[in-house]
Amino acid sequence: MSEPGTQTTKHNPLRYISDTLQDLRAKGIAPKLRVLQGEQKPVCVFDGREVINLASNNYLGLTSHKALQKASIEAVRKLGVGAGAVRTIAGTMQIHMDLEEQIARFKHSEACVVFQSGFTANAGTVSAVLGKDDLIVSDELNHASIIDGARLSKAAIKVFKHKDVNDCERILQEHANFAGKKLIITDGVFSMDGDIAPLPALCDLAEKYGCIMMVDDAHASGVLGKAGRGTVDHFQCHGRVHIQVGTLSKAIGSMGGYVCGSRELIDFLYLRARPFLFSTSHTPATAAACQAAFTLLDSVQGEKLVNKLWANTKFFKKELKKRGFQFATSETPIIPIHVGDAAKAFEFSRKLFDAGVFAPAVGYPTVAEGKARLRAIVSAAHKRQQLMRAADTLAEVARTLDILQAS
Ligand code: PMP
Repeated sequence: MSEPGTQTTKHNPLRYISDTLQDLRAKGIAPKLRVLQGEQKPVCVFDGREVINLASNNYLGLTSHKALQKASIEAVRKLGVGAGAVRTIAGTMQIHMDLEEQIARFKHSEACVVFQSGFTANAGTVSAVLGKDDLIVSDELNHASIIDGARLSKAAIKVFKHKDVNDCERILQEHANFAGKKLIITDGVFSMDGDIAPLPALCDLAEKYGCIMMVDDAHASGVLGKAGRGTVDHFQCHGRVHIQVGTLSKAIGSMGGYVCGSRELIDFLYLRARPFLFSTSHTPATAAACQAAFTLLDSVQGEKLVNKLWANTKFFKKELKKRGFQFATSETPIIPIHVGDAAKAFEFSRKLFDAGVFAPAVGYPTVAEGKARLRAIVSAAHKRQQLMRAADTLAEVARTLDILQAS
């Protein structure tokens, strides 16, 4: 018998994992987790180094907002630290119901269900609404949670070229006589390119071909539309999208995901969405923070924050363009800087970090092989002089790696 804490070497069925890790490390594409010391802020300390933070999805700076903190602390004092059960047993607290009502009102929807994360909202909803006799028509750059939900549903999956409405229609025409239910699904804002889905044209197709229309607004929640109401509001497509997913983990500053739609859709998800049925509900502190975030968004202060986010985005993009960067796809605060080779993208990110700016590299499997990039995200909380310094540093480091031509 081996001592506790030691590993047997004779039989190691996980050997392939060591081999894979060694291979990824040798290629320079196995970055270590960066550890944040303190709060998620525009300038903060990761791994003991102070950096300008272009890595977070904290679009509005709400992760450390005083109103959210106060609401959370009060909820802990009044309601404790845990929900104690899944929603369908004993884990539905009044605060969960109140949050769902508040989000539904905010989104001008009939009803809402809150999930533990945006990931479970997507995966749980797609797999509950569609089954093996159905068809899912999905943008090729949709998020992993949509892909996993589609696989779990066992429906046929057809992928259309990114944002290509004609390609989507080609698939629908080919399935004109399809007997099952059909779903068109798209991210509202694409997380790796920062571009926006052609929602009105996809709604036209959904109506023409009798499809369910679903949008994942993870990166549009709190970002696009009036006071951050999302892509449906941005494009004035109210009433044309049957299922709207959003996240509470990015601009909303806390944790969770939600689905908005008809009362019947939500009642059905209460009965059939597996993460809702089989995983414990949010802590009261999380639900209270989300309530405070939506109250804030719905106020003059919220509108100002969203406007500030867009003003900062415009400013930073202009500064980057002045220095020679191009990012044709980006229409939002997500700015991809294309590198191509993954090892080079990781080197770019490492050198940038050493120079005081944190923007992560993303490679396979988050993006396709050969399409590695750096991803920078602007927030409402950044100060102009921080963004200027970040743009200067990005350009200096990019020149040393021939990502930008020396001027
Ligand atoms: N959809 C998209 C497009 C995302 O980028 C993410 C987060 N990476 C999610 C869904 C999942 O959201 P959450 O982090 O709340 O699970």
